[in-house]
Amino acid sequence: QSLDRDAKVYVAGHRGLVGSAIWRKLESEGFTNLIGRTSTELDLKNRDDVFGFFSEEKPQYVVLAAAKVGGIMANNSYPVDFLSENLQIQVNTMDAALENDVERLLFLGSSCIYPKLAPQPLKEEYLLTGHLEPTNDAYAIAKIAGILQVQAVRRQYGKPWISAMPTNLYGPGDNFSPTGSHVMPALIRRYDEAVRDGTETVVNWGTGSPLREFLHVDDMASACLFLLENYDGPEQVNVGVGSDVSIKELAETVASTVGYTGRMEWDASQPDGTPRKLMDVSKLAAAGWTASVSLEDGIRQTVDWFRDHRDSFR
Ligand code: GDP
Repeated sequence: QSLDRDAKVYVAGHRGLVGSAIWRKLESEGFTNLIGRTSTELDLKNRDDVFGFFSEEKPQYVVLAAAKVGGIMANNSYPVDFLSENLQIQVNTMDAALENDVERLLFLGSSCIYPKLAPQPLKEEYLLTGHLEPTNDAYAIAKIAGILQVQAVRRQYGKPWISAMPTNLYGPGDNFSPTGSHVMPALIRRYDEAVRDGTETVVNWGTGSPLREFLHVDDMASACLFLLENYDGPEQVNVGVGSDVSIKELAETVASTVGYTGRMEWDASQPDGTPRKLMDVSKLAAAGWTASVSLEDGIRQTVDWFRDHRDSFR
């Protein structure tokens, strides 16, 4: 049923890629009482501070979009940070939300929770049926624990909390750090710089053959509100577009969008990660939601955003 537009909604992670898009979406849909805290204002790893915040603010709804995230190199290099920080953020936030009677909570995870070699497209029921992709297993285990916490709260306390698992997200407000970012912002930055510097050869990571699915973050925000208003069940719900492209195709699209005409090479000494992780989105489609931003439009819009903001990434 529809959410009360005047209820207090806490968007955890409201400055991040996903949280900021959810904030914009809720504002545009008439929500009048949104609250957010930057990580300096409230460190979600500090349990006492999180409990203090919840008992003071008493939000009715929570969107848990705060997480430590990063691309393949960051996940592969700092696994303990991804495991420990995400567990702390989730457990503190959900424990405090439970103690303070939050009516509805949406927990966000990622498609990397599914087994590395699961059949494609990935159905929700494949969770915990096989081994994870080693480059991001620490992050995935933390997110799986979050799904379990939502299910356990439902079982033990009967609260209508839910989980959604987005595929690879991109869009305005992404992290464009050359080593820490995901592939989409990394390629946008690299090819944009190559055009401006007149570089003749650009080298990307891996073989270019892995397949990935990309969802624009505004679509993700719309799916989040849709789920909060239309879904109530223990199983996590996949959010994606239902089709994927190779990393090579993605690089070619980004290159042509920014106007790069030089050579493209691949550094196969860098990890490819999982060969494919296409989401099965039939559950969400059956509930009545599908994505609307095309990959071409989304890339064009994100390139424009990056060009408007690139000086802030120096
Ligand atoms: P993943 O979906 O968890 O594997 O995360 P990423 O978005 O970081 O990487 C997706 C794929 O893009 C992997 O196969 C990477 O090897 C490949 N890739 C190619 N160039 C880059 C790059 O510059 N940065 C990142 N993060 N990935 C890249």
